[in-house]
Amino acid sequence: MPKSTRSFKVIIVGGSIVGLITALALEKAGIDYVVLERGEIAPHLGASISIFPHTQRVMEQLGIWEEIRAGIIPLKDRYHYDQYGQLLESSAVLREISKMSLNRFTSFMERRFWLNCIYNGIQNKPKVLPHTSVTSFRETEDGVEVTTKEGKIIQGDILLGADGINSTIRNLMASHIARTDATTSEEMRSGFTADYRCVFGTSRNYSPSDKDKPLLPGGMCHNVYYRGFSGASAAGAEDLIFWFLFVKSDHATKTPNTPRYTEEESEATINKYGGYAVGPGYTFKDLWESRVRAAMVPLEEGVLKPKWNTGGRVALMGDAVHKSTVNPGLGGNLAVEGIVHLMNELVPLVRKCESDGGRKPTKSELVAVFDRYEVKQRPHANFIVAFSAYVKKYDAMETWWLRVLLRVSPWISDKYKAGRLVSYMNEAPWLNFLPNPDEKGKANGTQ
Ligand SMILES: Cc1cc2nc3c(=O)[nH]c(=O)nc-3n(C[C@H](O)[C@H](O)[C@H](O)COP(=O)(O)OP(=O)(O)OC[C@H]3O[C@@H](n4cnc5c(N)ncnc54)[C@H](O)[C@@H]3O)c2cc1C
Repeated sequence: MPKSTRSFKVIIVGGSIVGLITALALEKAGIDYVVLERGEIAPHLGASISIFPHTQRVMEQLGIWEEIRAGIIPLKDRYHYDQYGQLLESSAVLREISKMSLNRFTSFMERRFWLNCIYNGIQNKPKVLPHTSVTSFRETEDGVEVTTKEGKIIQGDILLGADGINSTIRNLMASHIARTDATTSEEMRSGFTADYRCVFGTSRNYSPSDKDKPLLPGGMCHNVYYRGFSGASAAGAEDLIFWFLFVKSDHATKTPNTPRYTEEESEATINKYGGYAVGPGYTFKDLWESRVRAAMVPLEEGVLKPKWNTGGRVALMGDAVHKSTVNPGLGGNLAVEGIVHLMNELVPLVRKCESDGGRKPTKSELVAVFDRYEVKQRPHANFIVAFSAYVKKYDAMETWWLRVLLRVSPWISDKYKAGRLVSYMNEAPWLNFLPNPDEKGKANGTQ
């Protein structure tokens, strides 16, 4: 096969958690890429995000953990309250998880902070293009080309759609197949449902009665359970509280018709539920009033049933293919697993081709990579999406059985609960082309 003139290049659409981490991983692997992001990089939306130990391990591999670590307070204690404000359980499950995970821990931070750390880790910043919105793509036997709203045409060898729950790339894939396979096309558009919504916010960590006193000690989380709604708060960073109000909606909706809520609708939800306590001495309204930023979103969930690639050079990642409810905070962590699964297939292929006379991977080799990524990631997605749906219902005490379980939970040992989660996390993949941080200096080829 003739040596190619241009090196293998990945076009990534979406410059958020998945897009930027994929870019950083490709950079570490020495593979060319470009990131196209519709908005700015690391916008301040008031959203927060957790990093669990298995994701921490990947951040260590990518060399950005130190910067993240410097900006967070590890979560340690978790107190659960019932609808009467009674303490149901003071849980040490987060400490147990840490003990069972080589002292890695659960952390909770501003999402823009994590995004900034990833972006800071990227050396070749001109490869990340903000304010660049992709509107179409075209595949050929030899490559793929995208067009942006601004009229730019960008060429590459593969296209990764990391553009979130309302993915443009997924919708374009659906349009491309609409004439030949209307059912699959429809599944791609409407494969995600939402029957809950969530007000989320970042607030200053001070007590409503005394602004000189912190409301929560650093590393503390609260959960509260009401019928049909629930709440959570966490003091995961200096001076900040991240919080959530989860509410069951009157009716379920499907993509692409899940609602985009206005500021007035968020306020109306707070007016309705704001008076309820989140923890001792403070309510949702208190958190709303001390907010830095807050907003309301639908809680979409689902795993895309049709194939995650076009059978060519285009594949989907992250929230574009699997979306879980926010309650246990695992959606972004799941997305990182997906990046690792894909990179562990792609990087060895590109390297093999390079050593094979500098040829480029063929289309069928790339499809095989996308298929193997999906085979590995889909079971993880099915599990996390189902588990998150269960936690969503549990938090809002949807059934009598869940209400019983909430009362039984304090009698189940933290070790047992942590063990279940840790056994999942221990199975999580890490990047096999970088040294395994658990076996210093040794590359892992088994994942
Ligand atoms: C309130 C909230 C709290 C959450 N908390 C947690 C948590 O604690 N733990 C956890 O693990 N997960 C959490 N999640 C889930 C997590 O945020 C997502 O799973 C994760 O952000 C998915 O990343 P992504 O890159 O796939 O998609 P997104 O973060 O949605 O990013 C998609 C990007 O694509 C860009 N884009 C879209 N269309 C185009 C286009 N046509 N051209 C160019 N760019 C485009 C968008 O501007 C955006 O930047 C939370 C989610 C929410 C909403």
